Amino acid sequence: MKVGILGGGQLGQMLANAARDLSIETLVLDPKPDAVAAQITRHLIADWEDPAALDELAGCDVITYEFENVPVATVERLSEDVPVHPSPDALAFSGDRIIEKNLFRELGIDTATFAAVDSRADLDHAVREIGLPAILKTRRFGYDGKGQAVLRSASDLDAAWERLGEHALILEGFVPFDREVSVLAARGRDGEMRCWPATENVHVDGILHISRAPAPEVSAELLASAVAGLEAVMARLDYVGVLVVEFFQLGERLVANEMACRVHNSGHWTIEGAEASQFENHMRAVTGMPLESTGVEGFAAMVNLVGEIPSLSPLEGEAGVHLHVYGKSSAPGRKLGHVTVLADSREALEERLQRVLDVVGDRASDAS
Ligand code: AMP
Repeated sequence: MKVGILGGGQLGQMLANAARDLSIETLVLDPKPDAVAAQITRHLIADWEDPAALDELAGCDVITYEFENVPVATVERLSEDVPVHPSPDALAFSGDRIIEKNLFRELGIDTATFAAVDSRADLDHAVREIGLPAILKTRRFGYDGKGQAVLRSASDLDAAWERLGEHALILEGFVPFDREVSVLAARGRDGEMRCWPATENVHVDGILHISRAPAPEVSAELLASAVAGLEAVMARLDYVGVLVVEFFQLGERLVANEMACRVHNSGHWTIEGAEASQFENHMRAVTGMPLESTGVEGFAAMVNLVGEIPSLSPLEGEAGVHLHVYGKSSAPGRKLGHVTVLADSREALEERLQRVLDVVGDRASDAS
């Protein structure tokens, strides 16, 4: 069995790793010569639409992706010859914040209030409808908080429009959330779905900082409603692979922010913290293998290493601490690695996590 992966960043690297453990061969397409998945699998360095590269990928048994902004033409070309999972349809839904939110609403999943903004007049109109504060975002190609502007007062509109106005935009009402929670699930080709415990996420400057799983104090009702939401999305899209939906939690209310049709940073803890990781179950799903258990024992937390890799030697060999360095070059805001912490109790987890933060630095306190 051979799986073609579109995108060769750290997600592709971890997918290829999981594939190797399952004796699945992989082949990655990424235009970047320094794509880190190349450290462990074959890498085609070519443009997304390069005919020879696509012909070679089309020789795989199945295609998947770790990068959602692959041109539609690439996915369509490949899907003529070989199954693509998750489907090109799913990619189209998750690639546009308005289409995605309309899907959530159609399926009864709560979202922030929103409006499409295609002109300066639209922006004024949307602000009147939605009120302030609000967040102006690009409809497409946004990630890690990029392509966004928070509008707190009417005087913020001109600068936001100046910066983002050349793109198709969405204005979202600001959700005064208590916390952010993501839910990851895998769905097999046979429709079987398995969910990992909900994960609590803390972002700094729009970039994930810390995940904790299982998310503390999630009521059974809240979890059930989130899982029902994912189930509905997956059924609607005839989904195969791992899907994540990121929610804002306000009291006992969940508001869907966005979904990603791929493995996700908030699920990295599953490598050591769950019976099967998101990478393993994604590979199992897309190749038609039965899914493995998403069960967990104990508690996990994950800290992202962003911008530069600190000296990790004080943590080497420490019980319950797992270091992941992707081999990428340093750059501000770039995810270069992560540390997963495991423990038998919440108290022990928080202690270990603090020890890790003391070594790697706490972006939350740096920002404040
Ligand atoms: P996103 O790119 O949509 O994931 O947004 C990045 C981060 O900005 C989120 O993780 C939130 O912390 C914040 N954010 C995005 N949209 C909203 C919203 N409508 N209300 C409040 N905070 C938001």
